[in-house]
Amino acid sequence: MKKTIRDVDVKGKRVLVRCDFNVPMQEGRITDDNRIQAALPTIRYLLDHGARVILMSHLGRPKGEAKSEFSLEPVAVRLSQLLEKDVQFRSCPTVVCDTIKEMADSLKDGEVMLLENVRFRKEETDNDPEFARSLASLGELFVQEAFGTAHRAHASTAGVADYLPAVSGFLIEKEVKFLGGALEDPERPFVAIMGGAKVGDKIPVIENLLKKVDTLIIGGGMAYTFFRSMGFTIGTSILDEGNIDLAGKLLKKAEEAGVKLLLPVDVVCADRFENDARTLITDRENIPDDMMGMDIGPKTVELYTEALKTAGTIVWNGPMGVFEMPAFAKGTKAVAEALAESDAVTVIGGGDSAAAVEQFGLADKMSHISTGGGASLEFLEGKTLPGIAVIEDK
Ligand code: ADP
Ligand code: MG
Repeated sequence: MKKTIRDVDVKGKRVLVRCDFNVPMQEGRITDDNRIQAALPTIRYLLDHGARVILMSHLGRPKGEAKSEFSLEPVAVRLSQLLEKDVQFRSCPTVVCDTIKEMADSLKDGEVMLLENVRFRKEETDNDPEFARSLASLGELFVQEAFGTAHRAHASTAGVADYLPAVSGFLIEKEVKFLGGALEDPERPFVAIMGGAKVGDKIPVIENLLKKVDTLIIGGGMAYTFFRSMGFTIGTSILDEGNIDLAGKLLKKAEEAGVKLLLPVDVVCADRFENDARTLITDRENIPDDMMGMDIGPKTVELYTEALKTAGTIVWNGPMGVFEMPAFAKGTKAVAEALAESDAVTVIGGGDSAAAVEQFGLADKMSHISTGGGASLEFLEGKTLPGIAVIEDK
């Protein structure tokens, strides 16, 4: 178990919090403030408990240079509105400077400031120890709250913890509880659903999950590489050519591990990669040479939703079809609905899967939707995330 902000006394302390304020921006305006909203419970908790809060984050890819279009100033403004409290901000091109040190030193209990984009310094992504130390010198305690960058060993996500005691905020606590809980001590049967575009991207995840799950369901674009390994023709469907043999090996591994592996039995084909393409529903053995598989078919939907009914834990990564096009969103939607109706612990990892669940308006029906696409995949691969590893154990 990792220590959280509840396990330490924060009153009167300068608390340095790494947030994920990497919000989408258009012409200097924040177009979606979800990530800022998500950090509010941790920030409010700290302020209510008398901490002096110093927030830091990255935004976009300024590549180690102070570029005004990547300034966190709009985030400070938005955060002030949401907290109904002044969020002190000074755009310091070096992130830490004498002015910033003075601001941090003169913070009073219950006051909050935000540092400039840590990626204005190339030392951030280099995890430079001197930069980490200068960030750390601002605070007395480090709070990790940025899951989206927890798989990166950067100065503000990992390096600072060499100089400060480190605990997790509420967002990280929830990620570790659900992702870690599913992998370490799942309610059974444990069912994983894997989809998305390519097998190659997800092989390490599939390999790790095969050691843990009772049932593995495969859908989406990766299914066609498995079909090829089984000797079927797949028309013009997406194929991960270099991984056909590996797909075959994974099928064998599943069998050896006693994991029930489900592949689509029918598919929705299209003659073009377009929403208004001509479509055909066919059994997986009969995909026409000039068509591509775009979604799982109705028989598969039935098979998969049936398999999900008895599950105790469901981890889902990767959509079942090209859900961005309404004509090919049915499979993904049906799986999302099955999860929404299930009593199982339901965990969604992966950026596009999370977006799909949001799009269908089912987000609040899931036990947990991971806030980190890449980070959640690395977690499911069984890797140690540097930003999580630095958090002290209880
Ligand atoms: P996640 O972000 O959840 O990990 P991925 O990035 O692996 O998921 O995959 C998402 C993408 O896979 C989506 O853009 C979707 O359109 C695509 N996809 C799903 N099924 C197919 C298919 N049959 N053919 C082509 N692309 C597909
Ligand atoms: Mg993706």
